[in-house]
Amino acid sequence: MTHTQVGIVGAGPAGMLVAVLLRRAGVDCVVVEQRDREYVEQRSRGGTVEHRVVDLLRRHDLAGGLLRTGAVEDRIEFRMAGRRYPLRYDPIAQGRTHYIYPQQFLVRDLVEAYLADGGELRFETPARAVTGIAGDSPRIEVESAAGGSEVIECDVVVGTDGEYGVARRTIPPAALDCYEHQYEYAWLAVLAQAPPSSDCVINSIHESGSCVHVRRTPEISRFYLQCPRDDTTASWPDERIWKEVRQRLALDEPWTLHEGPILSTGMVRMRSLVCAPMRHGSLFLAGDAAHVVPPVGGKGFNVALADAEELALGLIERFTAADERRLDAYSDTRLQRIWRIQEFVHWMMDLVNTPGLGTPAAPFLHRVQMARLERVLASEAYGAAFLEDYIGWW
Ligand SMILES: Cc1cc2nc3c(=O)[nH]c(=O)nc-3n(C[C@H](O)[C@H](O)[C@H](O)COP(=O)(O)OP(=O)(O)OC[C@H]3O[C@@H](n4cnc5c(N)ncnc54)[C@H](O)[C@@H]3O)c2cc1C
Repeated sequence: MTHTQVGIVGAGPAGMLVAVLLRRAGVDCVVVEQRDREYVEQRSRGGTVEHRVVDLLRRHDLAGGLLRTGAVEDRIEFRMAGRRYPLRYDPIAQGRTHYIYPQQFLVRDLVEAYLADGGELRFETPARAVTGIAGDSPRIEVESAAGGSEVIECDVVVGTDGEYGVARRTIPPAALDCYEHQYEYAWLAVLAQAPPSSDCVINSIHESGSCVHVRRTPEISRFYLQCPRDDTTASWPDERIWKEVRQRLALDEPWTLHEGPILSTGMVRMRSLVCAPMRHGSLFLAGDAAHVVPPVGGKGFNVALADAEELALGLIERFTAADERRLDAYSDTRLQRIWRIQEFVHWMMDLVNTPGLGTPAAPFLHRVQMARLERVLASEAYGAAFLEDYIGWW
């Protein structure tokens, strides 16, 4: 049996940041991850790193890769009725911006930093159960890469195993309040081997549904297409995807859409979820294990990293200075911020998604949506309110 001070379930962005910070502070920890290293370092999901998270990474000397190869954005572009409406970040943002840096690159950087510091990270080691969380010696029961099983005894367990992991399910339902909202539509997430068609994020509002274009790398682009909630990837052959992207991003002026082979598609059924509190006894939740936001606005892994920093700092104070105050406040501190982000994403969902598709109210709702966007573009106060959340300096 292994013993560690902090057992971490899941090597996504949240789990890896907790691990790196603990290791550097001399707190003993073990990370278990169900997938292999290659998968974790290549899993393509988010890519927008907000201003405050760039600062967070800089503070901990973890921003090297991002600053070297990430792309800086200076505006967001909306499209509506064949016209483009750029919203420039400056002068409102006063030089603050966000970066485009694929999430998997950040995870790779964190894994490298942790292993370089001698950290213990077990890939292909799924946690089957977390037990004893009501007391002060919780355990993680894992299946080892060799096929056997093992128990890791811990002082504290950190559940960073994502939306569908085991950690949250360990908490008795009566001790956890889960607030969930399901949206009426889904987004088809498309990753294409195509150079970006724009050097900023494009959000196009269209009567058939929204379309978002985000660059990922100089060779890879991401597109999102709004579709009905019960739609499936099977109904989206490549030709249909490109036809819809062309239509929904169309401009009355010349512009070039770069097309290419489709690398992957996935149906993201939009939902928001917050589970509170983010602690039960000696188990702490962070990132998607505790809360989920739809990909609109690119907030998911940003908020996961912010959880991770706060949790790691609380754990460090507990284990190195026997001071539990920050750790005791962790859940309340983070939930306040998380609700603020939920509110912004909820609002942005209404801004960029065409409402009431296929219903008699759709034409009316679409015009209300266009008026809302016009207000964001025309009013400095509305534009500033949008940018401080979108770029993420508030
Ligand atoms: C298509 C898409 C686009 C997105 N775009 C953005 C974006 O632009 N910006 C943004 O900020 N966010 C975005 N997100 C959201 C973002 O990807 C997540 O919020 C983020 O990954 C959460 O990080 P995490 O560390 O909490 O969880 P995860 O990244 O889900 O990591 C959890 C880890 O735990 C492991 N695990 C699960 N169960 C077990 C187990 N039993 N034992 C051991 N290991 C386990 C998993 O394999 C995984 O490695 C997007 C998501 C999707 C799906």
